[in-house]
Amino acid sequence: MTKEASHIVKGNAASLAALPDMMKAWVLGDPGELTLTEKPLPVPDRAEVLVRIDAVAICATDLEILQYGTPAMIEGGAPFNKNYTPGHEYMGTVAALGPGVDEFAVGDRVTVEIHAGCGQCKRCRMGMYTSCHNYGLNYGDKNKGHRANGFTTDGGFAEYAVNNINTLIHVPDDMSDEDATLVVTAGTSMYGLTELGGLVAGESVVVIGPGPIGLLAVAVAKALGASPVILVGTRDSRNEIGRKLGADYVINPREEDPVARVKELTGKGADYVVDCAGTETTVNQSVHMTNRGGRICLAAFPKSAVSFDLGALAVNNIYLYGIRGEGRSATHRAMAFMAEKRFDAGLIHTHTFPLAELPTALKYAKERIDDAIKVVVSTRPDAPSGAKK
Ligand SMILES: [Zn+2]
Ligand SMILES: [Zn+2]
Repeated sequence: MTKEASHIVKGNAASLAALPDMMKAWVLGDPGELTLTEKPLPVPDRAEVLVRIDAVAICATDLEILQYGTPAMIEGGAPFNKNYTPGHEYMGTVAALGPGVDEFAVGDRVTVEIHAGCGQCKRCRMGMYTSCHNYGLNYGDKNKGHRANGFTTDGGFAEYAVNNINTLIHVPDDMSDEDATLVVTAGTSMYGLTELGGLVAGESVVVIGPGPIGLLAVAVAKALGASPVILVGTRDSRNEIGRKLGADYVINPREEDPVARVKELTGKGADYVVDCAGTETTVNQSVHMTNRGGRICLAAFPKSAVSFDLGALAVNNIYLYGIRGEGRSATHRAMAFMAEKRFDAGLIHTHTFPLAELPTALKYAKERIDDAIKVVVSTRPDAPSGAKK
């Protein structure tokens, strides 16, 4: 047992029996280059726990990080060749407690949100910890205690990770590991609707883009009472899942003009539009399908500068919001819906692979092989390898 690992056991009677000294972890080398290696077990500090990772979902942002580095930032720069482990949508079992932690117990099943803000900047104090001013300042003499696991600190493509207790959410016994990994995605959708700042019940909501966040935005909007909920997407198979998650109408822009159709369905345009595609086309569609005084949430990051009809926003008193991640404890509200089975988030989970097959899992996610949407990697010894049964 290493010095660090024995410190956990001695300092806290509470830890899973027989914690190993070392753990398996994937690390990022050059762009696109992942290697399965061994790392010492990380040690939880004050207000932190050690989580044994049971499952981790792959996100489009992981694919971006592996290739381009951003938005991950390790030691103030690009994350390449820094012994960094990506992966941020994971769940698992509390394996050991840091000093003073009594909010969780060893053996608790938990899922995580990404951002543990510094807790001291203006935005953290407002609950906007995903917009922490001290993002990535967690090294050397710049140590502000900020963590965003999988972005600025080690993440979930490993057997264990350390998490601040603020990032943990209890998982109900009857929820599968795979479904529990989806809480960050559902929480991001929830945060978007929360930040729009209005009562969604009885209001029309359009979601553009049936990716994981878009599909769960449909589900969350419906659970919040929005009516009608309209999904815009070019892939019919995904639109079909959107229907199952609560879309009253789906619009395929390859077949009809989404702006005209939304106006037809809503009368004067949508009260709320959540753009989960983030292209110049969808930004402009959002502007023109929102009614006067309505609100737009950009839940996707356009890759480059977009040109759009700013004047139409001003003239029509339309509000435009950006969101970053899953702030204001939105994951807890999302979990409340999931625990009550208000929607079946598991409909977007399509494949599971063992941790050792991460590269295959990433390929499925990236190339959408076999209509993959959410691909999950599991550390369970009996993990399947392929499509969900
Ligand atoms: Zn993600
Ligand atoms: Zn902060």
